Amino acid sequence: MTDLLVRGGTVVTATGSRRADIAIDGGRITTISADLGALAAAATEVVDANGLLVMPGVVDVHTHTRVGTDAEPDRFFQDSVAAAFGGTTSFLAFNNPGTGSSPAAERSLLAGLREWRAATNADAAVDYAVSLAISGRMDDPIAELPAMVDAGVSTAKAFMVFDFRLDDVRLFEAMGVLAGRGGMLQVHCEDPVIIDASVAAMLARGDTAPRFHAPSRPAYAEDVATARAMAFARATGAPVHVVHLSSADALRHVREAKALGLPVSAETCPHYLALTDTRYDATDDLEVAKVVISPPLRSSADQDALWAGLAAGDLDLIATDHVPDRASVEKGDALRGVPFNRVSNGAPGIETLLAVAYGKGVTTGRLSVERLVDLLSTTPARRFGLARKGAIEVGRDGDIVLFDPAARRTIRAESLHHTSDYTPYEGLDVAGAVRSVFVRGRAVVRDGAFVGQRGYGQFIEREGAGG
Ligand code: MN
Ligand code: MN
Repeated sequence: MTDLLVRGGTVVTATGSRRADIAIDGGRITTISADLGALAAAATEVVDANGLLVMPGVVDVHTHTRVGTDAEPDRFFQDSVAAAFGGTTSFLAFNNPGTGSSPAAERSLLAGLREWRAATNADAAVDYAVSLAISGRMDDPIAELPAMVDAGVSTAKAFMVFDFRLDDVRLFEAMGVLAGRGGMLQVHCEDPVIIDASVAAMLARGDTAPRFHAPSRPAYAEDVATARAMAFARATGAPVHVVHLSSADALRHVREAKALGLPVSAETCPHYLALTDTRYDATDDLEVAKVVISPPLRSSADQDALWAGLAAGDLDLIATDHVPDRASVEKGDALRGVPFNRVSNGAPGIETLLAVAYGKGVTTGRLSVERLVDLLSTTPARRFGLARKGAIEVGRDGDIVLFDPAARRTIRAESLHHTSDYTPYEGLDVAGAVRSVFVRGRAVVRDGAFVGQRGYGQFIEREGAGG
């Protein structure tokens, strides 16, 4: 039997593209062949993909989707719908300690995991997993890492900066403990000494406006922290993943670590690829607050280095660092006298990953479409232990995006579905558009309309990471 037959499209994998038909049964890809017309009569659904790219669903390994609360019960579901519209069929969320979690979750990784699982249960339209944020305020998070991996959570994120940062000794230990269990540490690399001093000096001068965010977090603070993380990776031999890498100088340390043969990887984000620090020159404080992100947006020279790094393999993947803050709520603090260092960090992006990466990367000739698939799907799935995701291959899940490369669209907040009320890409014209999206062989978006359902998305227990 065949549940879904996708016919006549150009199937894109990390290694090549070819015109082929795809059969999916029981949620998995069962056959890929030039002509599966013989299966059509007995297939439950047949989709004509002529003229379309048939890509594996995007795997976004860095999101801060919010769990539902009594006041806003639909946020996790709605951001999963937004993911589906964008062609993302599975995403990793962080549990975001400090944003509405209980005191127990603030002190324990495993308590946070239990709480997050209960709060997101049966709430997603696409598949999802969790990566835990390790807070330096927890009682003994390093001791909890083995049980965390055993519970199907094979990655965790540590911060070198912010008041909940992990000190260097425990950061080093976390790398080794996770590696010993087949897991992987993600590291937010910014130096706290430089940044704390710079923030304090600015506040003391009365420089509290959001435009001071970027100069308070210079690229050299990312540079020195990334160098330290790579040295720790060298000493431990652990697989280490640098999140949201934003600058040319930081990239150099990843490139050098790879040249030594270390099992390290790094991601960059769409905002560093599509926007630059000129955004902080806006005279409207709210426009600036919308791009208060850490690390901040960088120069166009940094941006060029990131694109070159993606093409060359120095960077391994693109993920969103999606934060569904709203201009009217969290970002609006900037208009209410809240100093730049207390304005919520981050920007929404869960729905626009493929659009921005394709529009800014493939259309411009910076990346081949095969390299894009590798960066958005195949490598993130492998590196983060999502073994059934990330490729159009027999045996993998039938997570498929039908993408029209001939379409054009202008990104507008009013046409997005995420739980933010703005997009940093407002007005950006891009080539290409998602037409239909399938998760395990079932349509969640068909011809641009949502046809999925709450609770269809499955929690993915991961076995290992760092491959
Ligand atoms: Mn971060
Ligand atoms: Mn983040």
